[in-house]
Amino acid sequence: MSNELENKVAFVSGGSRGIGAAIAKRLAADGARVAITYAKGADAAAEVVKTIEGAGGRAIAIQADATDPAAVKAAIDRAVALLGKLDILVNNAGTAIPKQFEEATLEELDRVIDINLRGVFITTQAALKHMNNGGRIITIGSCVGERMMTPGLVAYSATKGAIRMFTQGLSREVGDRGITVNNIQPGPIDTDLNPASGEWAVPQKANTALNRYGTVDDIAAMVGFVAGPGASYITGANLTVDGGTNA
Ligand code: NDP
Repeated sequence: MSNELENKVAFVSGGSRGIGAAIAKRLAADGARVAITYAKGADAAAEVVKTIEGAGGRAIAIQADATDPAAVKAAIDRAVALLGKLDILVNNAGTAIPKQFEEATLEELDRVIDINLRGVFITTQAALKHMNNGGRIITIGSCVGERMMTPGLVAYSATKGAIRMFTQGLSREVGDRGITVNNIQPGPIDTDLNPASGEWAVPQKANTALNRYGTVDDIAAMVGFVAGPGASYITGANLTVDGGTNA
């Protein structure tokens, strides 16, 4: 925790639970004013805001499905209106629908693409209209966007691989404004989406070098670093925080 992000404003998509909630709390602890979005979990989002404000920070929660361009644009506009500006965007909202590829319906494949890729496009375009010079765009990809050992995640890993190139491509377009664009690639992190207990967790844990799941705070720490002044020369990078899964 520091005051490195004092007077900065951050927008975190999908900040009501899991990794996004930890990121929001971490950026707030480092001094940023934070807006979070959620799709359905109003109570969970309100709880994150309460925790941040209880610790002396400033936060707001806005309902905005990452797949709905009008809702996302309205959320960004509202965050800027209420918090004054925009310096840091964290594209965190994402989902997986684990299933053998041949059994996945087109609707399921579209859903994964819509949230994990199209949602990032929509949110980033809306955010860039307001983002100050020296801003930060951080997307939560996945270690499976680089290397794949688990069956059942074909569409998911394809979207996370696309996020790698989205990151590299966009870094070339906004660098002259001092805006950095980076992709943080978590390994198995204990959340509702990927609980550390149960059958699905066994091979994922075995694939790590550290023989354990990571925590949401492991990812939030990397986001805090990339959002801060010490990371101003890091851009177009894919930063893996996966306990050695891809080692
Ligand atoms: P969770 O399912 O635990 O939390 C997802 C968060 O995103 C919730 O706040 C949820 O809000 C929100 N969200 C989901 N869909 C939408 C949507 N359509 N629009 C807006 N918000 C939405 O997921 P994790 O915390 O585990 O994952 C966060 C990110 O990290 C994802 O991009 C995921 O792919 C990535 N990741 C996770 C790993 C893991 O092992 N957990 C590993 C590698 C990457 P609500 O409750 O309102 O729906």
